[in-house]
Amino acid sequence: MEVAAERWMDRALRMAKEALENGEVPVGCLMVYNNEILGKGRNEVNETKNATRHAEMVAIDQVLDWCHQHDKDPAEVFAHTVLYVTVEPCIMCAAALRLMKIPLVVYGCQNERFGGCGSVLNISSANLTDTGEPFQCIAGYRAEEAVDMLKTFYRQENPNAPKSKVRKKECHK
Ligand SMILES: [Zn+2]
Repeated sequence: MEVAAERWMDRALRMAKEALENGEVPVGCLMVYNNEILGKGRNEVNETKNATRHAEMVAIDQVLDWCHQHDKDPAEVFAHTVLYVTVEPCIMCAAALRLMKIPLVVYGCQNERFGGCGSVLNISSANLTDTGEPFQCIAGYRAEEAVDMLKTFYRQENPNAPKSKVRKKECHK
């Protein structure tokens, strides 16, 4: 792994840690174009109460904003953008990455629950003629750190999950 890539993944891992500290699934990512970060994101599903706000979707929106602000063609920008993400993109995000035609994804650990780059489905390289372009993956980079954070998250009780007794009491008020 080249030095620049190491730096990007280090940064993505720090964002995953921030997600974990905020009660979110610990995933962090960066979108890098011409050695510049155009978009970054961490999972913010609980904070936004929106199940689609995965790190990758947050980062895609930031890149689109950047393109808009700098009068650049998103198709050209995404075609030369690399995604660095701590966890294998899920099925939804892998399909979004195909539609944006991002060519390369560097990721850490496998996503055994929802992975779209081989773990559950192989959206990244599937022959899907009407869903953008397949993309290349480099997997396993600092996977141990990424998976440790996921384990920590799933071991904790999710503070945002409905607690049946508490909720019932609230309903009677
Ligand atoms: Zn996702």
